[in-house]
Amino acid sequence: MKLLLLLAVVFFAAWLWRRGRIADRQVPAQRPSVAPELADMVQCPYCQLHLPSEEAAQGALGFYCSEAHRAAAGDRPKKDEKGH
Ligand SMILES: [Zn+2]
Repeated sequence: MKLLLLLAVVFFAAWLWRRGRIADRQVPAQRPSVAPELADMVQCPYCQLHLPSEEAAQGALGFYCSEAHRAAAGDRPKKDEKGH
């Protein structure tokens, strides 16, 4: 009877271990496909072009598609946020 209990515990532990390994594999694989689509989109107030905020030129009043349009809109470059 003790042997049966021991077998049951071993099988249960093995089942838990396999279940944990499968879950570890599935979670990271699903994330990358979602993230790029959710990048912050901004609109250039000068020409109404939409672009990701990472690629935009940032002025004191907002984001622009290029430094040329930021200057054309009469905006100043935003101060570096690392200065705080
Ligand atoms: Zn523009």
